[in-house]
Amino acid sequence: MYRKYFVWNFDDGLEQDRKIIEVLKKYHMGATFNLNSGLYGEKTFEGRIGNLGMTEMPYDEYQKKKFRLLPYVPHFRIPEDEVKEVYEGFEIASHTLTHKNMKKCTDEEIEREICEDVSNLEQKFGQKITGFAYPYGAVNEKCTQVLKDAGIRYARTVKSDPSFRFPEDPLHMPMTCWHISKKAFDLLDEFINARPEDGDMLFVMFAHGYEFDFGTRESSWYTFDKICRTVSGHSDIECVSNGEAFRRHEEEMK
Ligand SMILES: [Zn+2]
Repeated sequence: MYRKYFVWNFDDGLEQDRKIIEVLKKYHMGATFNLNSGLYGEKTFEGRIGNLGMTEMPYDEYQKKKFRLLPYVPHFRIPEDEVKEVYEGFEIASHTLTHKNMKKCTDEEIEREICEDVSNLEQKFGQKITGFAYPYGAVNEKCTQVLKDAGIRYARTVKSDPSFRFPEDPLHMPMTCWHISKKAFDLLDEFINARPEDGDMLFVMFAHGYEFDFGTRESSWYTFDKICRTVSGHSDIECVSNGEAFRRHEEEMK
């Protein structure tokens, strides 16, 4: 009997994750949080156009500006001395040490960005780190090799693939859907009604916590709650972390 897995992915380790976790707990859902261990506590503001965060402004610059062209929301990362408690019970995955674009890094930088982050996170959270998300979705071959050597089993890009299949190449794992997509609820319905006949099914929903602060029709705390309410509570859908979905899926295949 094949199974269906729904996983939330949240990037950057933001203050909004605290509120996200309250909602996840209410609906008994797991999730994966992709953190940058070199940026704990960093504060910037994210300017949006429509439902997209477009530009990051440093904290001081934001405070000085009287007129701003875009609406901004806080992109504040949780301080280092609080992260362990905040994320207790959830999967932590790497998002590089300092959120660098891997395509713009030297080989040495790539190694440092990945290996130091994985080792910092393992020490801090006492979990084996097996997941990764490419900052800006930027992938290169060196990076994939370093991930393999660091014991990473799956790495998420920002490409979308609405097929609900487990990825053939887990080190280039697409998401199913970004929560701001206009198709999000149609895809959820399709997933809820689907019967897994040729294999386990996977739905990877991606978000940054700050996007729920936008308060637009597609991207708000109300919509976040509604997605969780829609997908949870179905006995044939397991709402877990990426790592847990892969672990159960691989066990099934043995
Ligand atoms: Zn990011």
